[in-house]
Amino acid sequence: MNAAEAVNDALGALHARFADVRDGEQADYIPQLTRADPDDFGLALVSMDGHCYSAGEADTPFTVQSVSKPFVYALALSSVGLDEVDRWVGAEPSGEAFNAISLEAGTGRPANAMVNAGAIVTTALVPDTPESPAFDRILACLSRFAGRLLDVDEEVYASEAATGDRNRALAYLIRSTGTDYLDPVAAVDTYFRQCAVRVTAVDLAVMAATLAYGGVNPLTGETVVSAEVAAQVLSVMATCGMYNGSGEWLLRVGLPAKSGVSGGLIAAGPARFGLAAYSPPLDPAGTSVRGRAALGALSERYGLHLMRNPALPGSTVTLATTADVLPSAPAGRRERALRERVGIVAAQGALDFTAAERVLYALDESGAERTGSVVLDLREVTGVDSVALELLHAGLARLVADGRRAAVVDPGDRLGPSDLVRERTGRDLPRYGSREEAVERCAQALAGPG
Ligand code: GLN
Repeated sequence: MNAAEAVNDALGALHARFADVRDGEQADYIPQLTRADPDDFGLALVSMDGHCYSAGEADTPFTVQSVSKPFVYALALSSVGLDEVDRWVGAEPSGEAFNAISLEAGTGRPANAMVNAGAIVTTALVPDTPESPAFDRILACLSRFAGRLLDVDEEVYASEAATGDRNRALAYLIRSTGTDYLDPVAAVDTYFRQCAVRVTAVDLAVMAATLAYGGVNPLTGETVVSAEVAAQVLSVMATCGMYNGSGEWLLRVGLPAKSGVSGGLIAAGPARFGLAAYSPPLDPAGTSVRGRAALGALSERYGLHLMRNPALPGSTVTLATTADVLPSAPAGRRERALRERVGIVAAQGALDFTAAERVLYALDESGAERTGSVVLDLREVTGVDSVALELLHAGLARLVADGRRAAVVDPGDRLGPSDLVRERTGRDLPRYGSREEAVERCAQALAGPG
C-alpha cells in the first residue's frame, strides 16, 4: 500500500493529536477492567470495499462490553422480528445513564436496547434451545459481524458475574413487571458473557462497517443480517447509542455510534465506513475520552456528519441537449432541423430515487417541444434500484402519453420490460444499442413517411 497509506496517515495524525490526553477515569465497578492499560489507544477504519486502516493499539484485545448491544439487538431482530422485539423493549432515548432503572411506568418495558435494562431483555429474546443455546448464537453472530472467531475473556466474565448485582436487580425488576419469559439468572449470565467477548479496535471497525454496508461483512462478503435489520440497528444507535449523551453526539459528530465501559467505541457511516476507537479512560457518560475526541475530530475534519448530505449525486445527468449539436450530426439543413427536435439525455452511475428525479427533469427540459422526441441514453448507468426503476417507467409513460416519442439506448437492459409504457400508451418503448441509431430513428420518425 502506498497511495492509500494517506488514510493511515490521517488516522495516525488523530492518534498523535489525542494520545496525550489524560482526562477520564477507567471503569472499576467490574474489577478486572482496571487491569487494562490506560495509555492504550487504537483507531481503525474499514471501508465498504473491506479496506482496513488503523493507528496505535488497534490489535490490542479488550472486552466488547456495551458495544455488543447493537449486534445482539440485530440478532434478536433477525430471530423474532421488529414487532416482537418492540413489544418487550422500546426505541426511545432514555436520557439516562447506561445502568439506570429505565423502565416504562406500568409495563416495565425498558426504554431502548442500548441501556443495560433493554440489553438484558434483548439478550433474553435470543432463542435458546438445547442444540443451539442463546450464548452460542450470540458468539457466532458477533463473530460473523467481526469476520473471525471471537472468544470470551473468562476473567472479565467472572469478575462481572461476581459483582454485577445492579444488572441482576434490573433483571428481577423487569420480571416483576410481568415479563415472565425472562429468567433473570440465565438472562444476566448470558449478558455478562456477551459483554466479556474479546475484540480489537479493528474487529469493532469491521463490525460497524458490516452495519454500514447493509448487513454484509465487507471483509468476508457474508450477509450477517438483512439490510432492513442493519437499518433498524443504526437507527437505534443514532438516537440511543451514547446513552444520555446521544443527542449531543448526533448533533456534533452526526454518526450512529455505541460506547462501552471498557473503552471501546464504534461509529458507522451508512454506505461509507465503519469506525472504531479503543482507549479505556471514560467521561462521566461512560464514553472513551480519547475515542470520543478522535471520532469527533475525524467527523469534523472529513465532513462525515450524516446530515451533511455527503453523497449529492452531482453528475447523474451527463448530457441534456438536442441531437443537432452532437458532433455526429449530419451537415444538411433538413437533417439538422429534424435533429433539433430530438432531445437527448444521458445518465451515468447508480440510479436511485434522487438520481431518477434528475433524469426525469432533464427529459422534460430537453427538446422542449411537445411533438418532439427524446432519447434517453443509459449506457453509462451502472445500476437502477427498484424505486428508480418504477419512477423512470412512470415518467417515460407520462411523456409518451403526452405525445412525445421516447427511445432508450439501453444495451445492458437496465430498464427491463416497459409494461407500464405499453399499458398506458399501447406502444412499446423502442430500445437501441447505440445512441446514433436511436437519434437516427427518432429523426426519421419525425420526418414522417414522406
Ligand atoms: N457489562 C457492562 C454492564 O452491564 C456493560 C456496560 C457498558 O459497557 N456501558 O455494566
